[in-house]
Amino acid sequence: MFSSFGQEKDFTSSLYASYGKYKEPSLDKRRIKHVDIQPLINTLSNNPKFKVAVVGKSIEGRNLSLISIGTGPTDVFLWSQMHGDEPTATQAIFDILNFLTSTDFKSEKENILKNLKLHFLPMLNPDGAEIYQRRNTLGIDINRDALSLQSPEGRTLKRVRDSLNADFGFNLHDQSTYYNAERTNKPATISYLAPAFNYEKDINEVRANAMKVIVYMNKIIQKYAPGQVGRYNDDFEPRAFGDNIQKWGTSAILIESGGYHNDPEKQEIRKLNYVSILSAIYSIAKGNYKSIPLADYEKIPENDRKLFDLKLNNLTYNLLGKNYMLDVGIHQLEVDDAMHQNYYNSSRVVDQGDLSTFYGYETLEGKGLSMTGGKVYPKTLASIKEVEQLKVMDLLRSGFTYVRVENIPKDKNFIELPINVIGKNYKVPEFKMRVGINPNFLLEQQGKPRYAIVNGFLIDLKSGEGNFKNALILR
Ligand SMILES: [Zn+2]
Repeated sequence: MFSSFGQEKDFTSSLYASYGKYKEPSLDKRRIKHVDIQPLINTLSNNPKFKVAVVGKSIEGRNLSLISIGTGPTDVFLWSQMHGDEPTATQAIFDILNFLTSTDFKSEKENILKNLKLHFLPMLNPDGAEIYQRRNTLGIDINRDALSLQSPEGRTLKRVRDSLNADFGFNLHDQSTYYNAERTNKPATISYLAPAFNYEKDINEVRANAMKVIVYMNKIIQKYAPGQVGRYNDDFEPRAFGDNIQKWGTSAILIESGGYHNDPEKQEIRKLNYVSILSAIYSIAKGNYKSIPLADYEKIPENDRKLFDLKLNNLTYNLLGKNYMLDVGIHQLEVDDAMHQNYYNSSRVVDQGDLSTFYGYETLEGKGLSMTGGKVYPKTLASIKEVEQLKVMDLLRSGFTYVRVENIPKDKNFIELPINVIGKNYKVPEFKMRVGINPNFLLEQQGKPRYAIVNGFLIDLKSGEGNFKNALILR
């Protein structure tokens, strides 16, 4: 028994080590669309190992496809992206499908496919994915439609679940990158839930099996991202799919992909999905998850939501002639381009005051640093090209965070230099540290700028370094 568990661990490590071979290269960015996954599904439908069926259509008429493989008596159903802006597991599903079409890992794969039937329904909300939004075209959250079943996407999910009467269901989502493992600065890179099926939160065999598989996957994630797992609150939500699928007799496992330091496109998290889900599938095939102690489920730290992208501690803020001490929490929010293919960042101050119970992906200890608003460079430039020729770091060191430009191209909203570009008539608001502002200010040490905050990104003016992405163009 122990040796077989050892082998399984080796399987997980080999999956991790060889991942690059199976990663689907055409899905390398988060904003994937229905049109991006269709060629991959078409290829699978020509592969005799797979059965591919159109099982429904979205409101706007996009096909929902179910991809099945295996001959075993246990059915495992995995669906992703019922929220259109939650694509990480969709990418991981196509990596898993690449693994299944390959000729490697022969014995493990045979074991999986003779014991299980795997069914994948990637991108359940393709209309939402098209415009990178959570809700579907009806404007509803499909995950609150399990009872009312007004959405064709929700009806498809229910119909497929019922027709398979699946033993296991993997409900695959993304969560905000601002979730952390409770009382730690670690992001909840992966969060789990075995949803309750009633208000009493009873645990029957169906739910217990989901909990055991979660404990198993948690151990795997802990190995590659120590401390970066959270467990969702299991309050019963009568309208949600996870809760109802548990109730209908399928062991429902919710997986939420959150944040990971310096991984904005969530590709490391995608890999962790691939490794942990495939390992879980193997464990279900062998049945050895059954011996996992249930009590370990409750030991997974709870999810919390206490992260900022940038946290500035103990800054000095002068207001009406008096000094105050403030912590400042900043989110570097994403704004999509018109086609929802790319994005830029437009940051906001989301909280200020005593933020000692919060954490940052990046944190600055700011004792002795005082805030002062950024100034506008006195010379107006003719074009963005001229901005690119400026010694921007020197400007920041002199306290300038804005430069005025005569001609700004219509379609440009951001600039990859750490200085904001403003139009001829743009009036920079007087600096007041307030929740909701776009943060642009200097942190002075003994009257001299030591750090600049430009569009919510921290720049060290001594070294010239920072985790900077873009400044804004403001008309
Ligand atoms: Zn979701």
